[in-house]
Amino acid sequence: MEAKTPKISETVIRRLTDYLRCLRHAQIQGKTYLKSTELSQDCGHNPSIIRKDLAQFGAYGLKGTGYNTKELIDNLNKILGLTKPREVVLIGAGNLGTAMIKYPGFRSVNFKFTAAFDNDEQKIGHFIDETPILDLKDLNSFIQKHLIEIVILTVPASQTLGIIEHLDNHYVKGVLNFTSEILPSRKNDMFIHNIDLAKELEVISFCMKNCLS
Ligand code: ATP
Repeated sequence: MEAKTPKISETVIRRLTDYLRCLRHAQIQGKTYLKSTELSQDCGHNPSIIRKDLAQFGAYGLKGTGYNTKELIDNLNKILGLTKPREVVLIGAGNLGTAMIKYPGFRSVNFKFTAAFDNDEQKIGHFIDETPILDLKDLNSFIQKHLIEIVILTVPASQTLGIIEHLDNHYVKGVLNFTSEILPSRKNDMFIHNIDLAKELEVISFCMKNCLS
């Protein structure tokens, strides 16, 4: 299977990451091959959608045998740009930022927090586990020196726009915005993804109220 990258929607990208998680799990369980029906049971997507998604990238399972687990993992890693470790910086070393840096799940998928940045003198110079908290003033020089491409924002919402305006977008290509300030999905060549945890609760509240009857 060739890791061709046709233009794909965010919905498909999200499904590919689901497949990847299930495939990694299957690999740990020692499964060399996985059928689309088994993948479907594990990740909850329809088998025909799975086959269609994967065929877009030239991946076809063997009839009666399924997909080669390792080969598909390697190719999904290539498609999703996960083959090399990625260094990430976080801005805003408060409660949410600290929890994210401490979360081991990022390391296991090749993302590493190189530094956290903050403007609070009481925090600058300290560490969250092994990650140093540095002065926000040094952000862009750090980004340039370490070729940082991904930034995670966990500052108060009121600070978001000011910070985004000053990010060196020559290097930074992806921003994960955990503040409640909604940013455009593209700005100065940066891809921005807004994740408002409170909003997710509002969505689930609506579903519970309207979809459970
Ligand atoms: P704490 O009470 O420990 O500060 P918190 O999560 O309640 O944690 P928030 O007010 O949400 O605090 O701020 C998150 C973090 O963002 C804090 O560490 C704060 O110092 C930092 N912060 C606030 N404004 C900026 C800014 N302009 N630049 C960088 N960091 C900032």
